[in-house]
Amino acid sequence: MDTPTPVPHIPRPYQIGSLAQGDPFHSVLASFADEFETEAERRTGDLIDARIALLCAGNEEPARSRGEYAIELLTFGILRSEYAAMAQATSDTTLHRMADLWRVRSTEPDRKTAADQERGRIFLGILHRSWEQRPDPAPDDARLARWLDATGEFVQESQRMRTWLNGHEAFWSTEEFVAATSGFAAWFEERAKSVLGRWTGGVDEFRRRVLDSDTPREDLFLVTRTERLYHLNMLGSEVMNRGFRPGYDSRPRKIVLVPGCMRARDDKSCQARRDGLDIVCTRCHPSCEVAALDRLGEEKGFGVRVVPHASTFTAWLEHWSRAPDTALVAAACPLHLVPGGYEMRALGLEAQCVLLEFSGCKRHWDPSGTPTRLDRNRLLELVA
Ligand code: SF4
Repeated sequence: MDTPTPVPHIPRPYQIGSLAQGDPFHSVLASFADEFETEAERRTGDLIDARIALLCAGNEEPARSRGEYAIELLTFGILRSEYAAMAQATSDTTLHRMADLWRVRSTEPDRKTAADQERGRIFLGILHRSWEQRPDPAPDDARLARWLDATGEFVQESQRMRTWLNGHEAFWSTEEFVAATSGFAAWFEERAKSVLGRWTGGVDEFRRRVLDSDTPREDLFLVTRTERLYHLNMLGSEVMNRGFRPGYDSRPRKIVLVPGCMRARDDKSCQARRDGLDIVCTRCHPSCEVAALDRLGEEKGFGVRVVPHASTFTAWLEHWSRAPDTALVAAACPLHLVPGGYEMRALGLEAQCVLLEFSGCKRHWDPSGTPTRLDRNRLLELVA
């Protein structure tokens, strides 16, 4: 189970083009982010005011933009709609087992394979039940956060959800909070589908084939995300880039982080060298996208590093927090953008993010392992 077998011959869930090809994705996304921020103030401005007041009263955490708080509230509403019924119907025993298995796979490498096999079986059982979402004015959001945490796929999101659940009693009732966040999610789903749907047309078919394959994969809660979760992360990347921008601009050294799936060669053949915790491209392959970015960085004044595997990812990310002159530009597929932004904030990092044009890694998305790429013009806009 360490390397789940992807479903063969399935469509890409999403695909965006490049500025050079005239793809309007980024300008459409920017306009939608403007609309979102206006709508967020109308629907959740009071909640955000209260949250900031709570922080001013002594809760210490890195400052965020109002747009970032709005993304957190939208995420809350969408995850409630997606998963609250599953969380409610999962027995306490299973919930505890899920949490335990996530801990084991994260901390005990020798037991990771067995833990992932069991997680895959549990997840498949949950996803194969038919779920009927019923509006509930007082859902158990604390249980939802625990359940999301236990899947291992929403660790960052569940941490942010808890910050909204703690200490709010003087400011809003549960019913008010649920009505605001669920209403926001319903508005978003419809608008995002009409604005961004042309770039995510493969999501439903991808999900259907994964579920029809009946395979107990540990990444099931990643590869079965619905279209609105792609849209949430796409929008979140734009809104978070705006929130992070002042801090990013304040740091002179820029490093672009690229995923291993961008390489022209696999792990064994890639000649990248280790430099402490960093992985640095040696340009061993003439048409490797990472090498092209490395050359571009040499010309434009930024560095490039390959992101290591998940097992060392957190330690690796933390080491950047000891480089106060450095800001990061992280390239990733959309489902990792919002949680990645939360993690960057938690670590006090300054960053921008750029979306890969499609998902291509063998592990989750593409049996043939097509090397991924990003829009270099968009990268140059962000890295400046
Ligand atoms: S060009 Fe760089 S990233 Fe690509 S395979 Fe070679 S060393 Fe690895």
